[in-house]
Amino acid sequence: MTLRPGSQASLRAANIRRVLNALRAHGVLSQAEIARLTGLSPASVSNIVHELDEAGTVEVRTGVRGGRRAREVRMAGNDALVVGVDFGHRHIRVAVADPHFTVRSGRRHECDVGASALAACAAAEKLLAELLGEMGEERSKIKAVGVGLPAPLPPTGGPVGSWPILRGWGSVDPVRELSNRFHAPVFVDNDANLGARGELHFGAGRGASSLAYIKAATGLGAGLVIDGRVYRGFSGSAGEIGHLTIDETGPVCSCGNRGCLETLVGAPYLLELVRHSHPDVRSLEALVSRAVEGDAGCRRVVSDAARHVGFVAANLCNVVNPERVVVGGELAAAGEVFLEPLRSAMSRYAVCSAAATPVMAAESGQRAEVLGALVLAAEQLELAAERPSRDSPARPSVESDVSDPTIAQDRRLHSGGRDGE
Ligand SMILES: [Zn+2]
Repeated sequence: MTLRPGSQASLRAANIRRVLNALRAHGVLSQAEIARLTGLSPASVSNIVHELDEAGTVEVRTGVRGGRRAREVRMAGNDALVVGVDFGHRHIRVAVADPHFTVRSGRRHECDVGASALAACAAAEKLLAELLGEMGEERSKIKAVGVGLPAPLPPTGGPVGSWPILRGWGSVDPVRELSNRFHAPVFVDNDANLGARGELHFGAGRGASSLAYIKAATGLGAGLVIDGRVYRGFSGSAGEIGHLTIDETGPVCSCGNRGCLETLVGAPYLLELVRHSHPDVRSLEALVSRAVEGDAGCRRVVSDAARHVGFVAANLCNVVNPERVVVGGELAAAGEVFLEPLRSAMSRYAVCSAAATPVMAAESGQRAEVLGALVLAAEQLELAAERPSRDSPARPSVESDVSDPTIAQDRRLHSGGRDGE
């Protein structure tokens, strides 16, 4: 049934969607929290929750929040769990959810991910064990794990290869290593591709058929969605905007080239700019927070970085012409301090209608990648359920659909499933 736009029914459907998306993104919420997150009135939330409870879509239990008894709402789930793991350059984030994307628990751990694959994988395993212990859940309930890595990944699976930024991962096959540790099927994708997925399902990309997601963090990368599919390119390196040459006589980059975008806006280069003037600013988060507080020097550094990213985003829009540009990562946490100069550079360097491409911050903030990893895991779980029994459950190896995680999205789009809900 097609609902007439603007009709009472379509408004109600949109409100229900807002409630469901809030529950999927945040897990267990009180009705007051749902009202605050969605902007709906408490009465509307109460009606919608009652309706969803009657339909068996959500579960309502009495719990304790802030020392008071409160009605807690969660998506009704089965026993299965999916796990998302986001390996950044400087952090590991792990989240556990049910297959309806209700995030049950999550945690972030700071470490040098590139230094040693085995140490990083062990840290992820430990984080997951802690979360499961606190949730009182068995590891056997984990049916699929989605993993993001900050590197171009070979479409055929296997070792990460000689990506210089993940220097300690060269000979390690992340699917094999992590499935041995998690005892569940593991599916890997590039972190920016997963950020694009996270925002497409839960954030600023909802309803878009094409999207450029820019992760502006310690490094720079983009996830491109074209006609509803994440585009990886022939060998998996599409979207590596951090290594676009901006100045061919510039500093040598970790990739071996000179003057890449990352040599202008990567965290080590930005921190070097304030090393003498602001010796206490030693992390990207500190730089961003000082810029937001109004420190002139930090604001200048963030604003100049935004202009460089805007220059690259303009060229990306000239080539790909996406419907929206969504910006995530630590730099996007600066909000308009980062976005305004980025837009201004876009309008200066992009041609025709591409100059007017809307640029917005990722709604799920720095959780976009781990949410995308959960989407990948849940989609693969659905695919496993659709497979004939001899292929099910999905096998923990490179023979699985890890070589093309877009298959799930394609099927879902073709079958008119939950995408764009
Ligand atoms: Zn480079």
